[in-house]
Amino acid sequence: MKKRLVVLTGAGISAESGIRTFRDSDGMWEEYPVEDVATPEGFYRDPELVLNFYNRMRNDLKNHQPNFAHRALVELEKDYDVSIVTQNIDDLHERAGSSEVLHLHGELLKARSIDNENVVVSLPDDSLDIKLGDKAPDGAQLRPHIVWFGEAVPNIELAVKWVQSADLFLIIGTSLLVYPAAGLVRYVPNGVPIYLIDPKEVKLGGIEVNIIQKVASEGMQDFLRIVSKDK
Ligand code: NAD
Repeated sequence: MKKRLVVLTGAGISAESGIRTFRDSDGMWEEYPVEDVATPEGFYRDPELVLNFYNRMRNDLKNHQPNFAHRALVELEKDYDVSIVTQNIDDLHERAGSSEVLHLHGELLKARSIDNENVVVSLPDDSLDIKLGDKAPDGAQLRPHIVWFGEAVPNIELAVKWVQSADLFLIIGTSLLVYPAAGLVRYVPNGVPIYLIDPKEVKLGGIEVNIIQKVASEGMQDFLRIVSKDK
């Protein structure tokens, strides 16, 4: 049976694909304060601004391609049972070909009802914009299928289960400042090796980690070499 590799990814893995991370732009997300575009309060204050913000980002996604780090995680499926928990809202893991991806913070290419987080629809390629007046199947206004700050993270329970079943744990490109995602590392079973790829220092509160202080593509080359010795 293959060993289970559980991977936690953040905005840093998509940085080399040209998608900006959140912290590296000083808490502004593509020039907007996070309170305006990534909170329910911001949405109710100015829904059109928020819809347009995500519409632009959604339409721009096709200009960005998976990079070496996304592809290396697919390559690892030959030897490992790979499960990816991502904080990213882009679809680069899916486009690279990863089989098991759990999005903690939602998906840019989906929309949901403002009344019910479980009423979710995929947006067709030829009609990626959500407009005021667009309705979900339950008749309520559609909004981006994004978990905004202050909202519950429905997929966290499944993510915890995956992490608890890991034989090897890898973290790539996350500042580990956004909870509950940042707390997942606490569920890694004792004795399971943890690797962390990030060009900056990331605080892990006393947990023992093998640090690969490099950008995702270079760090993944190191990681592939390390695990190939394990075979
Ligand atoms: P973050 O912006 O807080 O942290 C990004 C981390 O990536 C930092 O530690 C940084 O040092 C590292 N990094 C920067 N360039 C890198 C590279 N080339 N290779 C590897 N690491 C690199 O991001 P976060 O921890 O994911 O949390 C921010 C929130 O913003 C997330 O919840 C996410 O939903 C959202 N977000 C998503 C995307 C996306 O989907 N691609 C982009 C920006 C923000």
